[in-house]
Amino acid sequence: MRSEGGLDGRVALVTGGARGIGAAVVAAFVADGAKVVVADVLDPEGKQLAHDLGSAASYVHLDVSDPEQWRTAMDEAERTFGPVTVLVNNAGIVEFASIEASTDDSFRRVLDIDLVGAFYGMRAVLPAMRGAGGGVVVNVSSTAGLTGYAGIAGYVAAKWGLRGLTKAAALEFAVDGIRVCSVHPGPIRTPMTEGMGEESVAGQPIERFGEPEEVASMVLFIAADATFSTGTEFVVDGGATAGVATVL
Ligand code: NAD
Repeated sequence: MRSEGGLDGRVALVTGGARGIGAAVVAAFVADGAKVVVADVLDPEGKQLAHDLGSAASYVHLDVSDPEQWRTAMDEAERTFGPVTVLVNNAGIVEFASIEASTDDSFRRVLDIDLVGAFYGMRAVLPAMRGAGGGVVVNVSSTAGLTGYAGIAGYVAAKWGLRGLTKAAALEFAVDGIRVCSVHPGPIRTPMTEGMGEESVAGQPIERFGEPEEVASMVLFIAADATFSTGTEFVVDGGATAGVATVL
């Protein structure tokens, strides 16, 4: 079910919006009538996307791991379109290394971007949403926030943390009319997974990579239509976490 203009006139900010899942969310939101701020560290790609989408989109440079840049980005979003009432914390990185081989810096960097960045975002957007009488936050976690994966421990820790942070925020923000939900994609075809082959999805009930648009339609549904859901997990994984398929 697609929303019919449920975001009409709303102002959204999408982190990591320049490419991959974030860019698909930006396009889906604009098509639904929202004004969208694309926030990323990839300036040329982000500016190009905003330009291609016309007057309903703009670009702001935002490293989500820097709280000062969050303040600047919120100010700029408000100056451009008005108060942000939809925030999608989508920016993320993954580091492939065993726990033994992980460096202090690389482990912390994943947490800083994938988890702490979303915390900064929710804290920064709260005054605007409260002032506007409500809002929605969608945190893009992962199936790595539902189960473990070897070789990406920092990512798993960050994505489980983001799932927990979502629930804590949902409880705190409800009084202000703000819903907070998490999305848990499985393997999706984006630059993040470009090194992964088809063997990664072998045995999955829907045996293929998902497309960014398939995650974007879930994010749009949460933002526009899921008006009785908060603190909730929405899984978009081709059945990857449904269980173990044993031959009887
Ligand atoms: P991607 O690498 O294509 O896009 C990630 C975006 O985040 C990029 O535009 C990047 O520039 C941006 N980004 C990185 N660090 C940033 C920072 N410090 N500040 C602001 N922006 C930053 O990857 P994607 O697959 O589109 O991933 C989007 C989100 O979905 C991530 O949170 C990722 O963990 C999650 N996810 C992806 C998959 C998958 O299979 N692709 C699966 C589950 C979850």
